[in-house]
Amino acid sequence: MTNQQTNDSSNPDPTRPMSKNIGIVWFRQDLRIADNPALHAACAACDAIICLFIDDPCDQTVSQLGAASRVWLHHSLESLNQSLQSRGTELKIAQGDPIEILQQLSATYSANRLFWNRCYDPATIKRDKKIKTALAALSPESFNASLNAEPWETVKADGTPYRVFTPFWRMRAKSLPGTKPLSTPKAIAAAPDTKKRDNLFLHSIDSLALLPEKDWHLGMMSYWKVGEKSAMASLKRFLKNSVHFYANERNIPSVSGTSGLSPHLHFGEISPRQIMHVLTQHKGTLTGLNTDEETFAKEVIWREFAYTLLYHFPQTIKKPLDKRFEKFPWAKNQQKNLRAWQQGMTGVPIVDAGMRELYATGWMHNRVRMVVASYLIKNLLIPWQSGEQWFRDTLVDADLASNVMGWQWAAGSGADAAPYFRIFNPVLQGEKFDSAGEYVRLWVPELTDMPNKFIHKPWELDATERQKFDYPSPLVDLKESRQRALTAFDTIKQPANTE
Ligand SMILES: Cc1cc2nc3c(=O)[nH]c(=O)nc-3n(C[C@H](O)[C@H](O)[C@H](O)COP(=O)(O)OP(=O)(O)OC[C@H]3O[C@@H](n4cnc5c(N)ncnc54)[C@H](O)[C@@H]3O)c2cc1C
Repeated sequence: MTNQQTNDSSNPDPTRPMSKNIGIVWFRQDLRIADNPALHAACAACDAIICLFIDDPCDQTVSQLGAASRVWLHHSLESLNQSLQSRGTELKIAQGDPIEILQQLSATYSANRLFWNRCYDPATIKRDKKIKTALAALSPESFNASLNAEPWETVKADGTPYRVFTPFWRMRAKSLPGTKPLSTPKAIAAAPDTKKRDNLFLHSIDSLALLPEKDWHLGMMSYWKVGEKSAMASLKRFLKNSVHFYANERNIPSVSGTSGLSPHLHFGEISPRQIMHVLTQHKGTLTGLNTDEETFAKEVIWREFAYTLLYHFPQTIKKPLDKRFEKFPWAKNQQKNLRAWQQGMTGVPIVDAGMRELYATGWMHNRVRMVVASYLIKNLLIPWQSGEQWFRDTLVDADLASNVMGWQWAAGSGADAAPYFRIFNPVLQGEKFDSAGEYVRLWVPELTDMPNKFIHKPWELDATERQKFDYPSPLVDLKESRQRALTAFDTIKQPANTE
């Protein structure tokens, strides 16, 4: 085909100038410019790009966020904006119904293309389908930016989803580390500005009012560095210093033995593909990894297992996957105990340490998440949904898929869940994973001078000695409450029904 023919076919009327492709890239849970398939595709297909973030009242990325996540989102948007500015454009912020906003934008800027990266929660899937139909004129294209494989790709031979992690992992591992991450655009041509923009956009990220009026967030954010550069730096630091001890140290809450990547992953400041690529770059394949590295790779894939479960069983956001638990006889009128748990005042040191770490930093160690969840559900008999809701409000990494899976796992009602009768003993957990009580002393300073022997069971200390510590007595007796939980479980015991 000659050049003349090419020109003729793409521009049927040569007397008119060729129209430019103006694309909209709608950022959601993909707040990065590296390995961002939507941005990458837009840069390849368009002459100019509008980078957009929408505060949509129906969206998981904003309105459903808890207070801690809103703070993170604020800083993450700031960071993304800076990256975009250094490449010649900026992040525009709009608020309202995405269909209306995108329609107005395409009319104002003569935009003719739309790109985004997919989210997998049921509300967003439903909304996005609607948008694809309503805005078909913009030829919307969506991509996978947040998982190594799509939730519908890793299924059993009969096409049904996995409910157990190990075979899911084996299947997923076959295609890892996957393709190389996409390159970062060096420059992004901004769409020419228009006077009408004032009606379309908010003036700044501040206008979203994601930061609370009271300044509690300053303390929380002193533990974190937000944005894609920090995410990659954390990954590299972890791989250099900690991954070699991961299989053991990931269970010890007093050491920083884990990557701390969860909020970065949630907001898409780093992609799992980037993680797998950096993790395997010296060996090239997953099989070359040592046990610690492979354990870390598996944890990253646990997150994808959670996304797969959410995709196939969307009802589990609110309801137990194992239907027997719908009839579980939870304790009534537990507001006082729930409050004590939230405030880290249960009288069980490892539980209180975890809950206070969460409140102060917006994060809690995974081992302790399991302990505090088990205590709430089994010792206090408070429904897992109350714990899930509190975590959603206070975690900077609050993630619908991982949070729901974690809570259902702890309740014994989810996929690959711990059997209900396996009830964590918080004293034994503390003695095993925080043997010198360092973690407890860090977050429960009232117990600093508690002898090691009693650091995880201060109630066993002689009564006169105990009075010297300004620390609450346990809300419930651990042995009795364990028995109460087992009796409650007996009332729903019958063959599992997960359909
Ligand atoms: C009750 C409960 C609630 C939880 N809620 C959340 C949540 O809202 N958001 C969240 O990201 N994680 C949640 N988790 C999982 C886990 O606790 C965190 O992902 C982990 O503590 C994050 O720390 P890290 O990044 O240092 O993890 P690392 O040990 O460094 O692991 C690397 C990455 O793997 C993923 N990962 C690790 N463990 C798990 C797991 N058990 N389930 C799913 N993904 C995992 C995370 O994305 C994590 O960043 C929950 C666990 C429990 C028991």
